[in-house]
Amino acid sequence: MAFHTVSYEGIEIEYELLRKDVKYINLRVNKQGKVVVSAGKRVPLSVIEEFVQSKAFWIITHLAEIEKLRSQMPDVGLFDGKTLYYLGKPYRLLLERGLAEIRLEKGEIHMSSPKVNSEELRQEYLSWLKRQAAEKFEEIMNRIFPLVEEYNIVRPKISIRNMRSIWGSCTTGGDRIRLNLQLMKADEECIEQVILHELLHFPYPNHGEAFYAAMTRLMPDWKERKQRLETKYKDGI
Ligand SMILES: [Zn+2]
Repeated sequence: MAFHTVSYEGIEIEYELLRKDVKYINLRVNKQGKVVVSAGKRVPLSVIEEFVQSKAFWIITHLAEIEKLRSQMPDVGLFDGKTLYYLGKPYRLLLERGLAEIRLEKGEIHMSSPKVNSEELRQEYLSWLKRQAAEKFEEIMNRIFPLVEEYNIVRPKISIRNMRSIWGSCTTGGDRIRLNLQLMKADEECIEQVILHELLHFPYPNHGEAFYAAMTRLMPDWKERKQRLETKYKDGI
């Protein structure tokens, strides 16, 4: 890596020069506001300098735009760089300005958004999470529902809500269980535990001995799973 500078009307422009196997000179300003110039190995430095000089006005304007975009994101501190759990694994959230998009990649959540306020960003993340949850909770229900076959209950519908204090609940009518969106932080074993717990409330409405006996019979390690859910994944998004 080699850093060079040219000056334009008293403003120093620092750029990184990469020597490559190319004939031309190429100049770009990346999202972090770094100027990168690549040039062929035989192109003399004076020619490169002249080239950068000729682009100086464009570079300065471009850097100013990037700086402006950055200063328009004063309230993202709560969100940018934060570690979020997703299905039991920690991800570092990296925020970029752009069209709304979220993707997971090697331990990172790349969130692109036109929003600049951390509460709006949080809402955007939660609505993305809700779409993922709709699929994931159904998939886990497919695995867990056969465990309660003996009780002859009708498979309930799942509704998802972002809640503060409870992981799940069920309606007395018996056709619906409600799961906390925040469960998406936890690993699937923890989610299985919550779903089984709610399903067993259809035959056993209260937390009596029979209820816990059935939990232990169908999922011998339910206590560890519950414990993990309430310690490791307790922080809200
Ligand atoms: Zn309960």
